[in-house]
Amino acid sequence: MVFLIVSIFPKLFVIELLFFIMGKILGIIGGGQLGMMLTEAANNMPTEISNIIVLDPTKNCPASKVGAEQIVADFKNASAIKELADKCDIITYEIESGDSQVLKSLEQTCEINPSPETLEIIQDKLIQKKFLTKNDIPVAEFREITSKEELESKINEFGLPVLLKTRTGAYDGRGNFKISDLDQIPEALEVFEGQSLMIEKFVDFKMEVSVIASRSTSGEIKTYPLVENIHKDNILNMTIAPARVNKIISKNAEKIAHKTMEVLCGAGVFGIEMFVTNDSQVLINEIAPRVHNSGHHTLQSSETSQFEQHLRAILGLELGSTELIHNTIMYNILGPRDFTGLYKSPSIDLENTFLKMYGKLESKPQRKIGHINLVDKDDLGMDQLLERVNIVSNSIKIIPE
Ligand code: AMP
Repeated sequence: MVFLIVSIFPKLFVIELLFFIMGKILGIIGGGQLGMMLTEAANNMPTEISNIIVLDPTKNCPASKVGAEQIVADFKNASAIKELADKCDIITYEIESGDSQVLKSLEQTCEINPSPETLEIIQDKLIQKKFLTKNDIPVAEFREITSKEELESKINEFGLPVLLKTRTGAYDGRGNFKISDLDQIPEALEVFEGQSLMIEKFVDFKMEVSVIASRSTSGEIKTYPLVENIHKDNILNMTIAPARVNKIISKNAEKIAHKTMEVLCGAGVFGIEMFVTNDSQVLINEIAPRVHNSGHHTLQSSETSQFEQHLRAILGLELGSTELIHNTIMYNILGPRDFTGLYKSPSIDLENTFLKMYGKLESKPQRKIGHINLVDKDDLGMDQLLERVNIVSNSIKIIPE
């Protein structure tokens, strides 16, 4: 049969036809919890996706436990990324630190979404902020910093406090130093010695929020409703969906997210983190070119999860509904501070409470090892839901095995 088709049609057409019939092979750079939930969503789309391969340095990573094949190698290992591209029809990522130069060189071999060009804009916070400003998208005032004199002069211009930030490779607030006093300048510069830096005016925000936005390869854009993010020690503690703000603010944030997706031209799901200032302005803090922790509520709150949406977007399928069907709070389960090692996986048997553990073998202090979604199917209201989160989170004990 294949021989007959090949003899009639050109080879490229036949390959595309076979992919269409058999489903695509999906490659994911990163096989942690986000890669795991992407794999689970892909498992539910057997017609479109026939196989999933993840690249991750940790043997038996979470994605491999739910059916993904794994290439065990560092995320930046060029030959491993090439191997992934050779084996897959389409590559995406669950982390933003992939090597955009290597990915660029593979675009002829394999479809890559979001594109390495989009990734490159996002990977460097300074380039990202310049790009947003150029497109009239509101952000906190910022400047590049290349010397102590420049830092002093910009602090003079902005006033204290400011945040000194590393331009690349930072996460969970690790690349930030708040300078509240001129005496802290030498220490701040020493902490980040040798790294490219920028400063930002300190935003006196009343709330941190985010929009999970998606853009498909065909250009269709959809945003999920604005959610509120509460951090503890710079790590997301819980997400409240929807955010407790008035409609003007939420519509404005969703409009800003929509515009961001238009100008970025990337395909996939993006997590757009924002501040709501005390005078109700909305400013973008940063963009993640991937599914996002603050979108985990969509697994139960919405018709289409952010993971399915991401796959729909990169496969060029029509995007799913982003309507919030039930108000939901997502609570992150972190490894306790007092031990590292094997742990007993917790369980919860409560109505409308969904526990998702990520199958990580070891607990480490402050490591994300699972989350809970509390879904307000009985219309209790946000205050009661928050009380329930408190009770449920206190009942979860991560203890050594
Ligand atoms: P980032 O690493 O940029 O995502 O920032 C981590 C956290 O630092 C954010 O969630 C905010 O709580 C805080 N932050 C970042 N930038 C600013 C800013 N310009 N003003 C005030 N807080 C900030």
